[in-house]
Amino acid sequence: MTGYWWSERIGSGYTHGYEIELLFEQRTRFQHMVIFENAQWGRGLILDGIVQVTQGDEFIYHEMMVHVPMLGRAHPAESVLIIGGADGGILREVQKYDAVRRIVQVELDEDVLTGCRKYLPEICGNWKDERLELVIGDGAQYVQDAAASNEKFDLIILDSTDPIGPAVVLFEPPFHKNLAEILSDTGVIVRQSGLPVTMPKVMPFIRKRFLDVLPCVKVYLAPMPTYGGEIAFVAASREQADDISRPSTQYSGRYYNPGIHSASFALPTWWQKLIDDFEDDGQVPIETKTYF
Ligand code: SAM
Repeated sequence: MTGYWWSERIGSGYTHGYEIELLFEQRTRFQHMVIFENAQWGRGLILDGIVQVTQGDEFIYHEMMVHVPMLGRAHPAESVLIIGGADGGILREVQKYDAVRRIVQVELDEDVLTGCRKYLPEICGNWKDERLELVIGDGAQYVQDAAASNEKFDLIILDSTDPIGPAVVLFEPPFHKNLAEILSDTGVIVRQSGLPVTMPKVMPFIRKRFLDVLPCVKVYLAPMPTYGGEIAFVAASREQADDISRPSTQYSGRYYNPGIHSASFALPTWWQKLIDDFEDDGQVPIETKTYF
């Protein structure tokens, strides 16, 4: 492949690099978007200098975000809300469930949706699914309006960017309060919560924000090579919800299987220490570095 070397600054004084062929670049209203091709990982999406998805390992992330909360419940969710997720990978996995009757996806940036549809079609789910209502807008505003109109969802998946730029609002207390209001009694919320190895405050911060509004909060993990390590997921629910850490139905995906499901809730000792030692100063752990 002839391209140029691009590197993502994922930690302090640390990068990992990709030799990329640039397929598309755009500064949208909200963020800087790059779609690339790499010999190892295939095509991928970068937003504001951070790799969001690659063809090579997206299945790990998307399967773990969907099948753990879906199959950890005794009854599959019927209504699902996805916030972010422009690449369509979460949608694709949700669409595998016939029990799902309603899917609402709220994505802020129409340009990212368009770019992903054009360059990453094999990741995307079916955007023409009759169960899907695609809303172009801010997830925080949608959740606020849904709370005011007393809407409920059985599964809420937060597939947003890290706490920078337009996603910062999704880390504020009012958003979490509204999320809890729109969660059905047996519902589950799942959120990608960053890599503790490079952003150690994000997972404990998100866990605490959920504990402020819901009683049952669990953390699980999966390896994500292109993100640079193990990613944390935080899941929150009420007492009436099932314990999602054990699968209630057997299913195997490409990464996900019942053994992986249960094992993903075993946390490294240092992650538990991060949780135990976390001091909540109320500040969103925003990355202030310039990435590009
Ligand atoms: N897998 C991903 C990762 O690594 O962070 C997330 C992928 S997905 C592309 C993230 C999406 O969240 C982006 O398309 C971005 O436009 C969307 N997003 C950011 N802030 C948002 C907001 N306030 N409301 C709705 N969507 C938002």
